[in-house]
Amino acid sequence: MAIHDFNAQRLWLEATLTEGGEIAVTRDQANYLRNVLRLNDGEEILVFNGRDGEWRARLTTIGKRDCTLHLACQTRPQTAPQQLIYLFAPLKRARLDYMVQKAVELGVGRLAPVLTHRTVADRVNLDRMRANAIEAAEQCGILSIPHIDEPQKLEARLADWPAGTPLIFCDEGAERANPVDALSNLAARTPAGSQVAVVIGPEGGFDEAERALLIGQPFVTALSLGPRIMRADTAAVAALTLVNVMLGDWR
Ligand code: SAH
Repeated sequence: MAIHDFNAQRLWLEATLTEGGEIAVTRDQANYLRNVLRLNDGEEILVFNGRDGEWRARLTTIGKRDCTLHLACQTRPQTAPQQLIYLFAPLKRARLDYMVQKAVELGVGRLAPVLTHRTVADRVNLDRMRANAIEAAEQCGILSIPHIDEPQKLEARLADWPAGTPLIFCDEGAERANPVDALSNLAARTPAGSQVAVVIGPEGGFDEAERALLIGQPFVTALSLGPRIMRADTAAVAALTLVNVMLGDWR
C-alpha cells in the first residue's frame, strides 16, 4: 500500500496546520508553485510542518509573487521522528548536497556533521543542508525534517555519547567481513525502533588515531563495506541501506 499520494506535490511549511486555515507561502514557494509546478487557483497540493501531520491544501490565490493555501483536511496524522542518526564528515558542496538528500531519503532523522582530522570542508553551510533536507523530505513522503546538529569535533561527539545508542563505524580499514553478520549480531541486542547511529568519514578517510578511538568505544560496531574503497557519498548510501534492512524500517 502506498504510504502517501505519490502523485500530489508536497510542500514543507513552518506554519501551524489546522482545518480551514489560510496560509500565505513564502515568495520562493509561490514562485515554485506557480512557475515551476505551473499550478493554478483551485489546484491542490499536500503540506506538512513536522508537527501537525499532512494536509490537503488548495491554492486559493496565486499571483506572480504570492500564493495563499486553504487547508481542507488532514490526509495523514503526524508520525514520530526517524530514529536513525547519521554522523558524517562534511564534504565538498555537490557531494554533500547529494549525501544529505540520500540520507533523508534513507530515513535519517538527525544529521550530525562531525569534524575529523582530514575533513576538507572549511565551513559547513547549515542553511544549505536544511534546504536539501526539506527538498528530500518533500520528495520522499516523510512528515518531518531531520534535525541538523551544529558541527562538532568527532572526539567531542564521542565523549558525550548517549547511553544505549549503538554507533556503526564504517571503517575502510576493517578486516573484510560480511557486514550482514556484524549487523545481525547488533540487531539481536538492539530493540526494534531504538536509536541507531552510523558514522562515515571524509574524502580522505579516518586517520589511525580516529580509527583507534572509534574502535575503542564500547558502543561502536566497526563495519566493512566490502573490498572496494567507496567515495563517502557512495558509502553513505551503501551503509544506510544495510542499516535500514537489518535494524531500520525496511525490516
Ligand atoms: N581513505 C580513502 C577514502 C575514504 S572513503 C581514500 O583516501 O581514498 C570515505 C569514507 O567512506 C570512509 O572513511 C568510510 O567511512 C567509508 N568507506 C568507504 N569505503 C568503505 C569500505 N570499503 N568499508 C567501510 N567503509 C568505507
